[in-house]
Amino acid sequence: MTDSDIATLVKQAVDIVEVIGRAVRLRRSGNRHIGLCPFHQEKTPSFQVDAENQLYYCFGCQSGGDVLSFVTKHQNLTFPDAVKYLADRYNIPLPQKERAAHGDLEERGRILAAIGCAADFFYARLHFAPEGRAAREYIDRRGLPAEVVESQRLGYAPPRWDGLFEHLKKSGIQPALAAKAGLLSQSSNDSSKFFDRFRNRLIFPIRDERDIIVAFGGRILSQDEQNEPKYLNSPETPVYHKGRMLYQYSTARQACRQVRQALLVEGYMDLLAFHAKGFHRVAATLGTALTSQQVRLLSRMCDEVVLAYDGDDAGEKAMLRALPLFLQEELSVSCIRFPDGLDPDDFLKKFGLAELERLIDHREELGTYAVRKAVSTWDGSSAERVRIFSELQPIFRDVRQPLLKSEYLRIIADRFSITEEVSEAQLLHEKRGRPDSGHRRSGSVNYSKPPQIESLEEKILRLMIKYPTLVECVRESDVLGCFEESKLAAIAGLLCQAGFCSAQEFSPSSLYDLLRESDLHELYTRYLLEPYELEEPEIQLRDWLEALIKRMAKKRSKELEQCLREAERKGDRAQITDILVEIRNLRAKTNVGDFPDNV
Ligand SMILES: [Zn+2]
Repeated sequence: MTDSDIATLVKQAVDIVEVIGRAVRLRRSGNRHIGLCPFHQEKTPSFQVDAENQLYYCFGCQSGGDVLSFVTKHQNLTFPDAVKYLADRYNIPLPQKERAAHGDLEERGRILAAIGCAADFFYARLHFAPEGRAAREYIDRRGLPAEVVESQRLGYAPPRWDGLFEHLKKSGIQPALAAKAGLLSQSSNDSSKFFDRFRNRLIFPIRDERDIIVAFGGRILSQDEQNEPKYLNSPETPVYHKGRMLYQYSTARQACRQVRQALLVEGYMDLLAFHAKGFHRVAATLGTALTSQQVRLLSRMCDEVVLAYDGDDAGEKAMLRALPLFLQEELSVSCIRFPDGLDPDDFLKKFGLAELERLIDHREELGTYAVRKAVSTWDGSSAERVRIFSELQPIFRDVRQPLLKSEYLRIIADRFSITEEVSEAQLLHEKRGRPDSGHRRSGSVNYSKPPQIESLEEKILRLMIKYPTLVECVRESDVLGCFEESKLAAIAGLLCQAGFCSAQEFSPSSLYDLLRESDLHELYTRYLLEPYELEEPEIQLRDWLEALIKRMAKKRSKELEQCLREAERKGDRAQITDILVEIRNLRAKTNVGDFPDNV
């Protein structure tokens, strides 16, 4: 049993109302309990406890969380001590560490054995079964050499519901254990029925730090299964945590011994394209956005990470979203950009490894890149200047190294023809002006007024939290990439993932447990506990999604206009035509409201 399992056990055994009720005089109001906040001075109560979701939130000082974070804060304890404190106080028998660990190991071993057995099955299907032909042809088309296919033990999952199921059964592996290992899925109608999770996919085994296969990623092979995701990965299991591992970590770590620099890419195929060229200092994320745990993992093997994401807009966005994580962990990070929107695989095929190494030699520090990008969009207006400063503000909040900071300030000062001191003062000024900072006074009502200007992202996220059935609409509309505020994007992303993986298990408190940073906990509990009722949430959501998509389109269209002026100046006919076509398409989208019906 892990520490987090023990924490969950304690949380399930105690009642938050009772625990907080010992410290705060609570009175019941509907399905909530309210009282005077123990964390700030107040005369009218703005502190609420939600018994149903086992969470609390103060609308006066924005403190919030679950029972453990309450005890941590109120008793001034560390997290493990808070767990112990509650366990002692409420006589919760904690499993004996040693025995629990032993039982854990046993199960771990059985899960790993099941995964190994599945890996052999996939491997044999790829190499020896007639049905594996499509996969073999795909490998040839993508130009993956036999050594890589062999060393990675790539495999193939046949297009059947019971292929792996039968194989595991023959090997004496119980379906329930195989489901726990993420190999089989349980039927939602009949929980005694299991079926293959991976069907008709090229299989990439995923290994842990010790090079043991702990999970699989599967790439779709047939074009006509459009409802299926392109990549399907193992779910979280006792041996696989996608936010805390990296694809090919152990190989990359060995290759990094001499040159303490690693490349980070986003996909399995991209990564293997590097291996195909004999380049091994490269790791990849596992189908989700980069996490701070992964950055810490990277910092153990190298002193600098070079992001080599796709050359398109989505790749750039993902890259920029990673910047705060690196700044917070103080790990050097730079980026290379592939021309013409190419991905690393295509680039390597077209230009080769030598050209890629030349790109690495000319890499740019990521924060410098972000700042340069942001200021380059300035159109000369003062309104835009204000906007750019507020866009840059988060970078300055996170950057700790003085050298980097002064480099960023120099770029800004140059662009706006002001001194570095004025740039810095302006950035600090923006900070103070933020609406949600500092202590908010609570009046006679329980809720302090929501901020006057609520962003579209914020509205959409509130809806997702209050009306979980709408999460699917948001996921389908694919707008997450349009979220500009990283905290909101993080919560919305988790909601989409949680709803996607296990609709039946989804609950507000389980989502709370998935959020890792404490400021996300506070934001989430606030949205969950603040009243937010709408007459017709679906219609509202549809409007807001549309508005968000339009906003992005407008932004893009502005960029295009600038490119157009540039192209006209250079007299580049072909480029002008391309840009005009894209502008026309964008306009059609924004004016006619040509959006998919399912949003
Ligand atoms: Zn408070």
